[in-house]
Amino acid sequence: METSFDIVVIGSGPGGYTAAIRSAQLGYRVAIIEKYATLGGTCTNVGCIPSKALLDSSEHFYQAMHQFQAHGIDVGPISLNFDQFMKRKREVVAQNTAGLVYLMRKNKITVFHGTGSFVDTTTLQVVSNEQNTVLKSRYFIIATGSKPSTLPGILIDKKRVITSTELLSLGQQPRKLVIIGGGVIGVELASVYARLGTEVTIIEYANSLIPLMDRELGKALARSLTRLKITILLGSRVMAATPRADKAVVTFQDQAGQQQELQADYCVVAVGRKAYTEGLKLEAIGLRVEKNGKIPVNAFLQTSVSTIYAIGDVVAGPMLAHKAEDEGSFVAEVINGQKLHLQYERIPNVVYTWPEVASVGYTEEQLNEKGIVYHLGKFPYSASARARAAMDTEGFVKVLTDPKYGEVLGVHIFGPRAADVIGQAVIAQEFELTDQGLGRISYAHPTYSEAMKDAYLQASGQGAINI
Ligand code: FAD
Ligand code: NAD
Repeated sequence: METSFDIVVIGSGPGGYTAAIRSAQLGYRVAIIEKYATLGGTCTNVGCIPSKALLDSSEHFYQAMHQFQAHGIDVGPISLNFDQFMKRKREVVAQNTAGLVYLMRKNKITVFHGTGSFVDTTTLQVVSNEQNTVLKSRYFIIATGSKPSTLPGILIDKKRVITSTELLSLGQQPRKLVIIGGGVIGVELASVYARLGTEVTIIEYANSLIPLMDRELGKALARSLTRLKITILLGSRVMAATPRADKAVVTFQDQAGQQQELQADYCVVAVGRKAYTEGLKLEAIGLRVEKNGKIPVNAFLQTSVSTIYAIGDVVAGPMLAHKAEDEGSFVAEVINGQKLHLQYERIPNVVYTWPEVASVGYTEEQLNEKGIVYHLGKFPYSASARARAAMDTEGFVKVLTDPKYGEVLGVHIFGPRAADVIGQAVIAQEFELTDQGLGRISYAHPTYSEAMKDAYLQASGQGAINI
C-alpha cells in the first residue's frame, strides 16, 4: 500500500473528510487517518446525524400523540417501540458512514484506520491493533475534533453520569433525566426524551437557555420547552454529579443560592466540548496547544509549522459541522495557492428543537453593546398562512438591518423550518442585499419563508403589521 502522500488528513469528521475530498479534487495524493472503525467523526457517529434522527422520530411520536386528532386522524392507542426507535437511528448513521467510504473510494483517497501520531514534521505513525504504518507527507491537516467537557465535582462514569454519546444509545427509555447545561445539546436531547414522556430537568448556569444566541430566542425556547413539560432551572450552578448503582445524584445551588439535590435515572453532562489532541504527539513537531486545548493557527489555519494545518473543533471558532467543512475545503485551496478568506460572522447557528431556532449575524445584545443603531423587523408565525395551515404557529422572524443602507446585520428565527429558512439570510449577508430589496423579491405563497419578507418590509418601514 502507498505510504507517501502530498496531503495526510488526521481525523475523518466533517472537517477531515471535506479537506480530503477537496484536496483530491485539486490533484493531490491524499490519505485520511481515522482511529475508529467508521468514518465521519463526532457529527456522523455520535453528533449531528444520530441526534437529528432521534429528534425526527420523537417529533413524529409527539405529533401522533398530541396533534393527529386535530387533523382528523384517529390512530387508536399509540405506543413507542424504543428498540425500533434506536435501530432506525443506527441505520441512518450506517447509511451516512457507508456514504463516506464510497466518497473516499470515488475520490481515490487512501483510508488508514488507527491513531495518528507525529514522528516529525513530515512523518506520521499510524498505530492500530493490527499494524503500525509509517506515512510520509508534504502537508498534514489536523482535524481531530473534540470530546465532551466536564466540570469539577462531576464524575462521568458513562453508566449513570453520562454524555450525549451514551444518551444517544440508551437501551431503554429512561423515566427521569437531569441534564446539566441548557446549551444546544441540552435543549435538543431534552426535547427528544421529553417528547417520549421522560421527566426531564435542565439545570443551566446562565440566566437563559442557549445563552450565546439572541436573548429573545432563549426566552421563546424556554416557554416552548416548558409546555413540553421540561423543568428548566436557570441561574443554577451544579456542584456535583455522582453515579450510584441505579441512579445519578446531582447537587446544585439554585437561583436563590440554596443547595438542592435531584435524583434521576441518568445525569447528562452537556456543558460544552473541548478540543481533542490526545495521542497526536504534537510535542514531536514543536506544537503547543492553548489553555483551552485548541491548536493555535493563523488566518490561513496554518500552525506554527508552515506545512501543518488544523481545522474544525480542534481550532478556535464555533464547534459546528459546517464550520469544520468550510475550513476543510478552505485549507485544501490555501495549500493549492488560492487567496481566500473565511467569513466566520456568516456561519449560521441552528438548534433543532421544534420549533427550530436559527440565527446568523449580530444579536440585538451585540449591536447594543457596540452602540450600532439598527432597524428591527419582526413577523410572528401566528400571522403566517402557511403556519396556520400546518398548525405550527409558534415563533417569529426577527431581522436587524442597517438604517442607512438597509444591509442585513442579523437574522434570528424561532419557528417551523427555521433551520432551512436561515439559508436565505446567509445569502443576503454574503451578497450584501438590502431590507428593501429583500422585501421586494417574490416569495412563494404560502411558505414559511414569506415571514422573512414581511420582517424585511417592516425593517424598511413598509410593514403591513406592527408588533
Ligand atoms: P470530529 O467530527 O470530532 O472528528 C474528529 C475525528 O478525528 C474523530 O472521528 C476522531 O476519532 C478522529 N481522531 C482524533 N484523534 C485522532 C488521531 N490521533 N488519529 C486518528 N484519528 C483521530 N454540529 C452541527 O453543525 N450541527 C448539528 O446538528 C450538530 N449536532 C451535534 C450533536 C451532538 C450530540 C454533538 C456532540 C455535536 C453536534 N454538532 C453539530 C457538532 C459537530 O459534531 C462538530 O462540530 C463536528 O463533528 C466537528 O467536526 P471535526 O471534523 O472538527 O471533528
Ligand atoms: P454549549 O456551549 O452549547 O452549552 C453548554 C451550556 O452549559 C451553556 O449554556 C453553559 O452556560 C452551561 N453550563 C456550563 N457550566 C455549567 C454548570 N456548572 N451548571 C449548569 N450549566 C452549566 O455546549 P453543548 O450543548 O455541550 O454543545 C457542545 C458543542 O456542540 C457546541 O459548541 C455546539 O455548537 C455543538 N453542537 C451543535 C449542535 C447544532 O448545531 N445543532 C447540536 C449539538 C451540539
